[in-house]
Amino acid sequence: MDSKLVERLKKIVGAEHVFDKYEDRYCYTYDASFITVGKNEVPELIVYPGNKEEVAAVLMLANEHKIPIIPRGAGSNVSGGTISRNDAIVMVLTRMNKIINIDRKNMIAELEPGVITADFQTQVEKLGLFYPPDPASKAFSTMGGNVAECAGGPRGAKYGVTRDYILGLEVVLANGQILNVGARTMKSVAGYDLTRLFVGSEGTLCIITKIIVKLLPLPEAKKTMLAIFDDLYKASETVAQVFMAGIIPTTLELLDNIYIKSIEDYVKIGLPVDAEAVLLIEVDGDAAVLDKQIGIISKICKDQGAREVKVAQNEKEAEDLWVARRSAFAAVSRVRPTIIGEDCTVPRDKIPEVVKKVREISAKYDVIIAVLGHAGDGNLHATILTDERDHEEMARVEKAIEEIFIATLEAKGTLTGEHGVGRAKGKYLHLEVGKEGIDLMKALKRTMDPNNILNPGQMLGE
Ligand SMILES: Cc1cc2nc3c(=O)[nH]c(=O)nc-3n(C[C@H](O)[C@H](O)[C@H](O)COP(=O)(O)OP(=O)(O)OC[C@H]3O[C@@H](n4cnc5c(N)ncnc54)[C@H](O)[C@@H]3O)c2cc1C
Repeated sequence: MDSKLVERLKKIVGAEHVFDKYEDRYCYTYDASFITVGKNEVPELIVYPGNKEEVAAVLMLANEHKIPIIPRGAGSNVSGGTISRNDAIVMVLTRMNKIINIDRKNMIAELEPGVITADFQTQVEKLGLFYPPDPASKAFSTMGGNVAECAGGPRGAKYGVTRDYILGLEVVLANGQILNVGARTMKSVAGYDLTRLFVGSEGTLCIITKIIVKLLPLPEAKKTMLAIFDDLYKASETVAQVFMAGIIPTTLELLDNIYIKSIEDYVKIGLPVDAEAVLLIEVDGDAAVLDKQIGIISKICKDQGAREVKVAQNEKEAEDLWVARRSAFAAVSRVRPTIIGEDCTVPRDKIPEVVKKVREISAKYDVIIAVLGHAGDGNLHATILTDERDHEEMARVEKAIEEIFIATLEAKGTLTGEHGVGRAKGKYLHLEVGKEGIDLMKALKRTMDPNNILNPGQMLGE
């Protein structure tokens, strides 16, 4: 990069917040996806702006010189959303990590994008408030990254996803213009819903510099249980049954035998390694009703063939189960070196059918596919355990993935419930949204970012 340009960028964000050494830049070539570009795509520069004015000034300069900008939070996305390119500047938003205010009366909060999700949750919970979205990466992912991906998590079954809590945003557009969208009110229909357009835009339309979120009262109590099954299909059939009984559990997670064994091997908390599947279920709310709900769910699980239902007897037992669940990705990473975590989502009643299909596809292509899911909201993480160095196996993996996508769409599902399109799924997006959908998205992108500097190559593939 031209040294004069580097000097101007150093003036904008401060020299100590610009990294231009090769070793530093190399660290930004990857994210948590399976995509690796290594030394072929080392970005030109890394900048860490400290406020919206600095973000705007960097974008203005990048736009003028047509330099791609790759926005980045913690880099924990699994869709290749922050994979670098060798002509780009990576803009890391983690210096902007203040919780600006928590307004108890109106139950809203304002925060910067670099705040870590779990830290924010801890702060609002101290005030008796609740921010439900809980990606399993909440201990390290940022709120900006959560908004840009519209992250979900286990609690999505009852509480929805990030989108459902975003009232408004402050964003900087590709040309450096600062824009406030949405409102601080619980409802607003003033014009097109630009907030929703930016949520899930994967760094391709704007840089998010401030987030206004809606909060809920912290539920009084919760209860966690584990239902153990000898039949994966029966376990997946149980999911819709629970909802049909009129109970909306906070979480309803499905884990198959590969996940159970890998997690137990990793965290050793006494999971039933011989079980074909477990359902990890939690209910929350008024303490008085929880025992009743747990009783009804236990009965449904047993009627569906669960061999045992264990209710956590205290907070530690419950937390152990959640630590185990949150370590699932790390645990299966020990089985094979390359992990491809899909996140197809289907209507709840289609889960058994798609789980069965995934098993058939796994056998047909002779690839290991583990199944875990936020099954309560229909989100299945079919996880391919493979080795990207084995080209012959990777060719079979690719075919298996395509068949999983086709099965998902046939079941009226979506290719991605929460991980985003990124680089990983761009070539499949048309299968779901059609040519008309792609054309409209491209037209929007061209209008908002005519020089295509914001995360080019992501989502729409250009
Ligand atoms: C172990 C593990 C478990 C996970 N569990 C879940 C889960 O349960 N649910 C789930 O939904 N995801 C999950 N994820 C995926 C990931 O954590 C989420 O996608 C998360 O939202 C990414 O946040 P991040 O701060 O790491 O963002 P990054 O990965 O840095 O960025 C994600 C995307 O957002 C863009 N971006 C980042 N910050 C901004 C900003 N300020 N303005 C504009 N664009 C921006 C980037 O360009 C990129 O496209 C998991 C990942 C791991 C590794």
